Amino acid sequence: MKLKLIKYIKIILGFFYSLLKPGKAKKDFNNLAEQKKNQKAIITFDYELFLGKDSGTCEKSLIEPANKIRDVLIKHKAKAIFFVDTTYILHLKKNNHPDYKKIENQLIDLVKNNNSIELHLHPHWLDAKPLVKDRWYFTSHEKYRLHSLTEKEIEKIFSEGSNLINSIYKKAKTNQKVSAFRAGGWSIMPFSPIIKKNFIKTKIKFDFSVIAGEKKLELPNHYYDYSNVDKKKNYWQFSKEPVIIDKEGFFTEIPVATAKFSIIYRLISRYIRRYMNYYGDGKGMSRIRTENKIIVYLKELKRNYTPIYIDSYYPFFFNSLLRKVKQKEIVTLVGHPKTMSSIALKNLELVCKRYKTLNIADLKKEFISNK
Ligand SMILES: [Zn+2]
Repeated sequence: MKLKLIKYIKIILGFFYSLLKPGKAKKDFNNLAEQKKNQKAIITFDYELFLGKDSGTCEKSLIEPANKIRDVLIKHKAKAIFFVDTTYILHLKKNNHPDYKKIENQLIDLVKNNNSIELHLHPHWLDAKPLVKDRWYFTSHEKYRLHSLTEKEIEKIFSEGSNLINSIYKKAKTNQKVSAFRAGGWSIMPFSPIIKKNFIKTKIKFDFSVIAGEKKLELPNHYYDYSNVDKKKNYWQFSKEPVIIDKEGFFTEIPVATAKFSIIYRLISRYIRRYMNYYGDGKGMSRIRTENKIIVYLKELKRNYTPIYIDSYYPFFFNSLLRKVKQKEIVTLVGHPKTMSSIALKNLELVCKRYKTLNIADLKKEFISNK
């Protein structure tokens, strides 16, 4: 108990010291970057607008921040995987919206700069209506979870989405094709026969929906239980469910890394997060809560682990989360252009300096060499 107390005092003093002496903290930060490239990172971004009352604009929530991300990646010769919300982009295309072309050009540019673009689905775009000319709102969130759709609808969004990604790869003059997926709201479970069938049909082999150790059983919008997966594993094969290892399985699960986050860190980080000034200009979805607010808050505090988000933590905290996964050979991180900020770009910089980054083509090579 006494040791724990000393540890917390050290943490708090260290944090304030980093504020008072940014030069010294920066040096520590860079030292860490010096041990670089022994570990590999898969930097993933969910390329999407806000999913709540106001989607935000394409320009402020996607184009501008994704360009800033691209510039950091280019500067460090790093690469990332962008999980593209094709339900949104197809919505633009069907409405002949001028933002469609902007996005297509940006995605081509990202591919030309060694990044991968893969499939991400938010089916409630089927219920989107214009708020003003370049903002949207959703008349309903009933279709939020993939499983709420009919078989036909699931088939349609998988095939249209993957065709769109493939056409962009083609326009970027590569022979790559879609091969990875992340479920909107992370809800891939249950991996039903119809979802499996569409993975096979669209040639998707890699799933990135599992957040090691997380659980959210909040129907109708979220439903997953990843609490029992091994947090130390870089990836595994599966066939029936992404959380059940099957060495002969055709699919590969690449879970998002999570790390232990103490209550004190959590409280400070939660409080100061509001000063990060996100680039995006929309509003997220407020969660549908059936429980009392205090119970929800206590539950949040009880959570020991957090996904390692590039866009949610000040570098001090982000760095400390990365230290906790330094035993892992491959660390999969997650961010969103819409919630990036000048502070979060510093996190991205650190990752680029410290790790060898992998895109989907590198991953495929990695698997072949491990066989
Ligand atoms: Zn998403």
